[in-house]
Amino acid sequence: MNEEGLDLLIQAGRIAARVKERAYSLVKEGVRLIEICEAVETMIESEGGRPAFPCNVCVDEVAAHYSPLPNDQSTVPPNALVKIDLGVHLDGYIVDTAISVSLSKEKQSLVSTAEEALRAAVKFIRAGTRIGEIGAVIQSTIQKAGFKPIRNLTGHEISRYNLHGGASIPNVAIPDPRRVAKGAVYAIEPFVSFANAAGSVVNADLSTIFMLDIKKVPVAKLKPDEKALVEYIAENFKGLPYSPRWLRGSKIPEILSVHERLVKTGRIHKYPVLVEKTRQPVAQAECTVYVEEDGCKVLT
Ligand code: MN
Ligand code: MN
Repeated sequence: MNEEGLDLLIQAGRIAARVKERAYSLVKEGVRLIEICEAVETMIESEGGRPAFPCNVCVDEVAAHYSPLPNDQSTVPPNALVKIDLGVHLDGYIVDTAISVSLSKEKQSLVSTAEEALRAAVKFIRAGTRIGEIGAVIQSTIQKAGFKPIRNLTGHEISRYNLHGGASIPNVAIPDPRRVAKGAVYAIEPFVSFANAAGSVVNADLSTIFMLDIKKVPVAKLKPDEKALVEYIAENFKGLPYSPRWLRGSKIPEILSVHERLVKTGRIHKYPVLVEKTRQPVAQAECTVYVEEDGCKVLT
């Protein structure tokens, strides 16, 4: 990454940090999830950034990948544990960060533990740290608190216009001898559930976030309305994940049914909603770090 790239990344991080601070107060019983989500995305835009992916608003056992669809009516239930996961990019330089807010005293301990595991991992990371050992630090912090990490959700390396570019950063000890590199960017994101949970997530029968890799789509073979939509998505989201809510700006008729057709035929990639296997509540904490010689800089 050149100096200009790093500068944009730092700016994106400052925007994400400001939006995150203001997001806590959005979570109240009875508020519609789509209101929280759109408020976050609007804040990102008004701070001069672009959302790097649709804002995720996940409740209780929904661990990740839920971003309200157009006309979503669901609200924050009583005693909910709500996760808000947001991304900001400036010219493709992406940061990714998340908070959890608990309206229940019991679930608050999951939130504090996720935050503690994140702090421990951040303190541990420097150029040359083994990836598997980061997972070990996260796992032991969570288990010492009496809880369980979600083993099949991970942090990830981030590169330009690529949210999941490169290595995954595990939340449990694994024998991965690779090392984090100086100058690399990683999202670290521990997920925590109760000790009697499965400690893993499964796909729900619903997807709310999508991604188009234009290089993999035979554009010439598409029907005219499909071609128009594919070109709209490629131009506006540049390979980054998007929400069907964001398609409303295009003038393509019957756009959501054209979109559905492209998803069904596999031309557009879908990210299924991820739910804890035993339907136990899950807390998440996440920040993006820039790795340096003797530590790492928290960007968000
Ligand atoms: Mn995230
Ligand atoms: Mn992430």
